[in-house]
Amino acid sequence: MTATILDGRALATTLRGELDEGVAAFKDKYGITPTIAVVRAGEDPASVSYAKMIQKTFDKRGMGFQLHTLPETASQDEIVALVARLNADESVHGIMVQEPLPKGIDEAVVKDALSPDKDVDGVHPVNAGRLAQVSPVGRPPMVGPFFVPATPAGGMEILKRYNVEIQGKHAVVVGRSNIVGKPMALLLLRENATVTVCHSRTEDLAGVCRTADILCAAVGRAKMIKGDWIKPGAVVIDFGVNFVEGQMCGDVDFDEAVEVAGMITPVPGGTGPMTNLMLALNVLEAARRQVG
Ligand code: NDP
Repeated sequence: MTATILDGRALATTLRGELDEGVAAFKDKYGITPTIAVVRAGEDPASVSYAKMIQKTFDKRGMGFQLHTLPETASQDEIVALVARLNADESVHGIMVQEPLPKGIDEAVVKDALSPDKDVDGVHPVNAGRLAQVSPVGRPPMVGPFFVPATPAGGMEILKRYNVEIQGKHAVVVGRSNIVGKPMALLLLRENATVTVCHSRTEDLAGVCRTADILCAAVGRAKMIKGDWIKPGAVVIDFGVNFVEGQMCGDVDFDEAVEVAGMITPVPGGTGPMTNLMLALNVLEAARRQVG
């Protein structure tokens, strides 16, 4: 059996069309350009290249992009003061603070400083807390609006657009970071999956993975999840971005997994292309909420 490829690039093209329509309608109605401000302290190469990718996406979509850089030596007070200034700036609708922050900076303090209404990366405790408290689909909503981190939001969008049945299924998420694994688990729970979250201390990881109808990998270890860890016919979402001998690969051994799974995201071309678009959609949504 060869799995159906969950094509993130094709889906991103569809989403780009939907985003463009939304941005054009918003600009027509309000004469305002939905704008993100990216904050970076220092010049971490991965952060520099991620900011460039975001800028490219926002430029192409006719959205506003601002980059605010501080030196590696910036103090916590300086970073918080910059965030506070952007919180108060009406021309900025979304703020993203890039990590890693310089040594000695308390990330929690910086996250707390963000306005939850502009936290389009979904890292402020209010947004993370509302995701944790949200009612399951089909029950009355119990929390206010919030933002979901872009990467798991993209993974969820892939499952939905490919009509993957989630309710009642066993979803296993490998990885429990605040930015990918944990929010993905909560999103699956909201969709009424039965969710197991695995991490570096999980016993018999392969055995747990084998019970998954939906298997999500957010680990950061190249090709760790092997074909014989996958239940035949399972849906596999691979968030991993790793490089082996200059080639990008996921956390799942794709060549093995594609022979066993029912559906699978490739790397590259799966979850990756969705991330910036979900971020841009969050910025558009933030702008809508702020004018509304
Ligand atoms: P983190 O390093 O923050 O978290 C990794 C998680 O994997 C941790 O929960 C860790 O467990 C767990 N883990 C590590 N080793 C093992 C192991 N041997 N067995 C089981 N679990 C293990 O990574 P991120 O969540 O930030 O990123 C995960 C992956 O997703 C990376 O490859 C990253 O590059 C990629 N990524 C992709 C994006 C995209 O757009 N597709 C965007 C962001 C990230 P513990 O908690 O016990 O330490």
